[in-house]
This record gives sequence, structure tokens and C-alpha cells, in this order.
Amino acid sequence: MSGKPPAGIFRDRKYTFFCSFSVSKYPGGESPQETRGLAPSAGLAKEDHSSYFHPMDLTDEIRACRLCEVRFQTTATAHEPRPVVWFRPAPAGQGPRLLIAGQAPGARVHLSGRPFTDPSGDRLRAWTGLEAAQFYDLSRIAIVPMGFCFPGYDAKGSDLPPPAVCARTWRARVIASLPDLRLTLLVGGAAIRWHLGARDVTATVRAWRDFGPRGIFPLPHPSWRNTGWLKRNPWFGDELLPELRARIRSVMEMP
Ligand code: SF4
Repeated sequence: MSGKPPAGIFRDRKYTFFCSFSVSKYPGGESPQETRGLAPSAGLAKEDHSSYFHPMDLTDEIRACRLCEVRFQTTATAHEPRPVVWFRPAPAGQGPRLLIAGQAPGARVHLSGRPFTDPSGDRLRAWTGLEAAQFYDLSRIAIVPMGFCFPGYDAKGSDLPPPAVCARTWRARVIASLPDLRLTLLVGGAAIRWHLGARDVTATVRAWRDFGPRGIFPLPHPSWRNTGWLKRNPWFGDELLPELRARIRSVMEMP
């Protein structure tokens, strides 16, 4: 994702207003650890979600968010915020069962407005066994990155991390709006850190069997940068991926 951005990435959208939704709505820094697990047995899934359900409001609020406008202007890409929102809040019994917790849009996704429309997405779909039509079916799958906007590049052309303010501001509400989640794929270190509080991605992914009962699969990021990691860790393809595909099939076939 690093290197020269695709043409048109700079200031491709103009906005004349700032986000009116204050961080103070969710004070206290990172969301509490107990809200991070997403399986039915963990945290929010046990609660009554009726008070969180605002079917249109939440996605519209996120799309209008400009909290990082100044931050993005200081990056090498000097781009405008463009939240890529790909989930649909639903009342209990009608929502998606699978959550793909990604990192943040890359430059291509910033332009397309649809998550994982890049080689990382091709690899993730191959890992999961999901066809594009299933992958983008909002009634069945929610794709919620740690940062909804492309974070930009630094002066050396390297990817910047997703702004922490994004998860701090939105994530608890997003998760609460998806009460039927049964399986969560943590895609990359940022999602693994937030949801599990774990810093060592390899050790966490290697311990994938420990998280199965919680309905969680930790995964490396499917970026081309991790091709070497995949070669060094053949158990990932040989053992984890077949089980991952079976779990996804099982969740997708739930009535
Ligand atoms: S990254 Fe998140 S917090 Fe920042 S502008 Fe985009 S939606 Fe808002």
C-alpha cells in the first residue's frame, strides 16, 4: 500500500464542515477490554442492544466524521477524510453473523469507497473461501476496520497506522449495533491489539485454537508484505485456514 498513491488521491473530496460528533461521547481513552471480545459469550453480546439500535444514524454519523481532517492534511498524501463504512446495524435476529475487523483502508480503497478492493482483499477472500458476492453482502457480513479512513503515508511513503481516535470514538457503538455476531476475524496487528490486548501477532495467531471457543480468529494482515511470514509459518495455510473456512461456512449457513 505504500509508495506512490494512485492518481486522484489528493484532495479528491472537498468538505466544508467538521464532524459535529464529539470524542467526549466516549471519554476515557480506549474502550474497556471487556467490550472488545465479540463472541456471544463476551462482553457486549450479552447485553440488551435495543438502546443502541439506530439503523440509519450510526453509519451516517461515521460517513460525516471529519475528526482526522487536520491530521490527514499533515500526511504526505494530504488527503481528506473519506470513511469507508461497510456494515449495516440491525436489531437482534436480523444482523450479520460474521465480523471482519480490518486495519484501515489503503490508497486504492480510499478511491473505491469499498473495503478490500485490492490485492489484500483478494488474498483475504482466498483465505476465507468467500466469493465477492458473499464477502460484500451487508446482510451477512460486517467489515469494520480499526480506522474507517485511509490514514495516509508518511514522508518516506510508508503507511501510517489507523488513528486511535477512530476506534475510541466509534468502535463500541458499531459493535453494539451488531448483536448477532458469532464469528470475528481479527485481520492484522491493530485489530488483534484492540480486541485481544495482545501485541505479538505471530504468537497470537499461532494460538488460534485458544480463541475458537470465543468465536474469534486472529489472522495476519493479508498484505503482500506478509508473504514471507506466510512462507515461514506453513501451519497457517495447512492447519488454520481449513478450520477458518469450515467455521465461516458453518456461521454463514446458520438459519
Ligand atoms: S479515521 Fe475515523 S475518526 Fe478519523 S475522520 Fe475517519 S471516521 Fe473519523
